[in-house]
Amino acid sequence: MVAVTKWVLLFAGIALASAFPAAEDFEARSSQNVVATEDSASLLEEGVERAYRFLQSCGDKDMSLCVKMRALTFVDRALRRPGDVDIVDGVSLVRTQDGMDVSRELNGRALSEAELDASLPKNADERDAQVETLLVDRVAKFLQSHTLQLKVPDYAITEVRKTLDEGVILNKEFPPANSWIRNHKGLTLLEWIDALKMVGYVAPVRAVPGRSRDGTRCRRCLSEIQTLPHILGFCPYSEALRNIRHHAVRSILAETLKEVGFTVHQEVQGLATQGSVRRIDIVAIKNNAAYILRLTIRFETHADQPHEVDSEKKRIYEPTITFYKDKYSLSHIDVIGLMVGARGTIPSFFANKCKNLSLTHSIVKEIAISALKGSVQILRNHLYGSDNGNFKLS
Ligand SMILES: [Zn+2]
Repeated sequence: MVAVTKWVLLFAGIALASAFPAAEDFEARSSQNVVATEDSASLLEEGVERAYRFLQSCGDKDMSLCVKMRALTFVDRALRRPGDVDIVDGVSLVRTQDGMDVSRELNGRALSEAELDASLPKNADERDAQVETLLVDRVAKFLQSHTLQLKVPDYAITEVRKTLDEGVILNKEFPPANSWIRNHKGLTLLEWIDALKMVGYVAPVRAVPGRSRDGTRCRRCLSEIQTLPHILGFCPYSEALRNIRHHAVRSILAETLKEVGFTVHQEVQGLATQGSVRRIDIVAIKNNAAYILRLTIRFETHADQPHEVDSEKKRIYEPTITFYKDKYSLSHIDVIGLMVGARGTIPSFFANKCKNLSLTHSIVKEIAISALKGSVQILRNHLYGSDNGNFKLS
């Protein structure tokens, strides 16, 4: 048992040392805080290359003793270093509290190979035995004083977090509507999975065969970079499906307004003060007052977006107020721009307006699911639809 342990420790020492053959290499690598960008294949190559150089550097010396001595000086040095040992990005040997103590205990300069060589007995067997004893001792100490730490590199975490934040930035807004994230009720399981991918923005928009030749342009219209916002919001290929998505949400809103006593007109054309024609989604009338509602399904990007949409729609549709006042004999009209997230987000702005209009919570959930289903359909059609599809030049 003792013999087996000894060989394990010897092997560990040699493996450690051949990963960092020369003390200078080790120092340089540690001090530079190397960011490994190599893929695993080149890391492996690098490892083999290092081990080869390590063995080659022993030249004509007794190979076994040379390797052990190299390993001993390396581990001895590593033990005395106060910091951690970074092996590759994300993998390091981290010094424990025991390690601090060992480092202090071994206080003093590390032995160089030449000094070690001079201090050893002349007899070959004795030399070998002593080097081995020292190496086993140092490696045991090293392993006692370090733990192997696997850590996802910070830049990878930042990247993932950024993507998720973008995806759910507005999803925190109105939890009752957005509960579909935890529960796929209202969506088929496959729609739910696609919807989750869209929220995480990890839909395989670039991984499906048939992508455009340069690999980044939209495979359908070739005019823009093929991103999820492009597919869901701008690509002319999906225009018809975008209209279907929009109409589905508008119908839910219109029906619910009728239920709470509004007289509702949908898709009405009105004249602006300058004479231009502007089409609105819904005019909802009750007691000589009305709301002009304009829905927008937009890819969620930032928290102010719903307010910006509202201002944008007010600017466009307020000039039609006089026209509608005359048309329906109204005394007061409010224009409201309502944004629904393309990935099923119901902003709190939207939820609050629904509350003002006496609409129940269930409507916002229904609208969230409807918008999501529409987006999933657009995404699937974009990725897997026929070449002719519903492509239209805009
Ligand atoms: Zn496109």
